[in-house]
Amino acid sequence: MTRCAAARRSREYGNGAPGGEYRNGALQRGGKDAEGLHELGILMSVIKTVENYAAENQVGKIEKLVLQIGEISSVIPEYMRKVYPAAVEDTLLADARLEIEILPANAECRDCGSVFHATVTGGVCPECGSRNMHLISGRDFFIKEIVCSG
Ligand SMILES: [Zn+2]
Repeated sequence: MTRCAAARRSREYGNGAPGGEYRNGALQRGGKDAEGLHELGILMSVIKTVENYAAENQVGKIEKLVLQIGEISSVIPEYMRKVYPAAVEDTLLADARLEIEILPANAECRDCGSVFHATVTGGVCPECGSRNMHLISGRDFFIKEIVCSG
């Protein structure tokens, strides 16, 4: 097994303004039919990215796909796992295992500079009690790794 794309990261899916809109959409959606549709769309672009990568690097077979999903990103890991088997059918990823890592929502306090896990502390700095913070991770979505053979 060759590790041919370690830490191949992409910010094109999760960050920025569209993420915010998707997030609101995700909170509002209730119909069962819509479950995983957002994730499916993202997965389709992931597959395209992986296939382009494979073509460029003469990769024959993908063993494993590792995704990193921020815990407050618009992507829901459970839905991602659910739509994955159907989405990768007849693609280079058909036999590839899906692995998902959750990235914590870390924030940095603007008053004292501490870095803390925002969802654990409820957005309050554990050092000085300030709520004046900015998120440094947790909204993003990355392709962390593409493990391939041949
Ligand atoms: Zn602080």
